[in-house]
Amino acid sequence: MGLDEDALEYHRTDPPGKIEISTTKPTNTQRDLSLAYSPGVATPCMEIAADETDAYTYTAKGNLVGVVSNGSAVLGLGDIGAQASKPVMEGKGVLFKRFADIDVFDIELDEADPDKLVEAVKMMEPTFGGVNLEDIKAPECFTVEERLREEIDIPVFHDDQHGTAIISGAALLNAADIAGKDLEDLEIVFSGAGASAIATARFYVSLGCRSENITMCDSSGIITEARANDDDVNEYKRQFARDVPEGDLADAMEGADVFVGLSVAGVVSQEMVRSMAGDPIVFAMANPDPEINYEEAKAAREDTVIMATGRSDYPNQVNNVLGFPFIFRGALDVRATEINEEMKVACAQALADLARQDVPDAVVKAYGEDPIQYGPDYIIPKPVDPRVLFRVAPSIAEAAMESGAARTEIDLEEYEEELEA
Ligand code: NAP
Ligand code: MG
Repeated sequence: MGLDEDALEYHRTDPPGKIEISTTKPTNTQRDLSLAYSPGVATPCMEIAADETDAYTYTAKGNLVGVVSNGSAVLGLGDIGAQASKPVMEGKGVLFKRFADIDVFDIELDEADPDKLVEAVKMMEPTFGGVNLEDIKAPECFTVEERLREEIDIPVFHDDQHGTAIISGAALLNAADIAGKDLEDLEIVFSGAGASAIATARFYVSLGCRSENITMCDSSGIITEARANDDDVNEYKRQFARDVPEGDLADAMEGADVFVGLSVAGVVSQEMVRSMAGDPIVFAMANPDPEINYEEAKAAREDTVIMATGRSDYPNQVNNVLGFPFIFRGALDVRATEINEEMKVACAQALADLARQDVPDAVVKAYGEDPIQYGPDYIIPKPVDPRVLFRVAPSIAEAAMESGAARTEIDLEEYEEELEA
């Protein structure tokens, strides 16, 4: 059987789908039931009515994330609609559970209007400890997230934007270190100006790159100041419009230190990689096929090409699963009101630091027998590395406490030990 038939079989095996609800308290006796439901349940209700933060003490809110989508930009499948997106959202729930023991309700909303999406999610605030927006298309995704971040007091995080930004940001910190370059000097070229590219460019600025050094290309070429008022240049792209002559991606890449591909397969040639500055950094992250493949990019030149892709079969896979489970874990555990820039930067730094440390044998074995060591072919941790949980989540919690996003203070050493246990 091929992958397609295996996937159908996997999903339809009884019970259909991938998740179910289970209870966490005894339900055997009449007494148990009168605690779980009426009349006993009235007491925690009244406690919460008196103090809303008691919802974290008496309900599952604090370990429950809503994965919310309208199905408008699903994986590489495009606008397949809310119902058809449900396997993906259930799958996101599986990853939250598997990597960080977080429970998820997947919420598929049949609604294209961003204002109505915002209203729907706002109404669900009492249910969740956090909201992971998923697979909502650009540019609507930017306004939906911005408004929700302002209007509700639980973390709202659009993973398609920030996951990529943070994980590739960690990769950038280490790639720049290996190439011996300072972030503020990096000339960076983006191919793509959609959900992930805009968020990634913004995040690189948070990490210390300079906005003036970023050139962004969309399907019509470089986003120049001359083009900035064209109809196809939305306000988010416009923020990165650069005062340079009109040109295409090949023009933009000449002399650049970093290429960031969040567009489509095959738009970068070996010639374009050769035109870049010494020891270039090439993050070709279009899925499933990158802007240029690993072998071609590496073979393009004599010096070191530091390469990352979205693929698991090459070194340096930029995989969002290195981020969102642990970001939400840390945020939930301090009952955070948001996931702010400080927390995102802390995540990238924790991931970058972890990649510089020795890799445990168990992780090496999971990927074959070759040693794994910090260098051009290992700039970010492997997705199955169990240390990611207990390094990243405490960094998030710490950044939340320091930046005023935490509703509760925790002891970080104890917390790390609990996560390790
Ligand atoms: P998106 O919002 O649809 O944006 C796609 C962008 O690519 C648009 O700005 C589009 O230009 C541009 N584009 C299309 N054809 C192009 C071309 N020939 N040359 C240059 N730019 C071109 O999509 P997204 O969610 O940001 O995702 C973009 C890509 O990144 C996808 O392949 C996705 O799989 C990949 N991705 C990978 C990771 C990962 O590896 N972890 C994470 C997220 C996304 P216009 O604006 O002109 O239409
Ligand atoms: Mg997604």
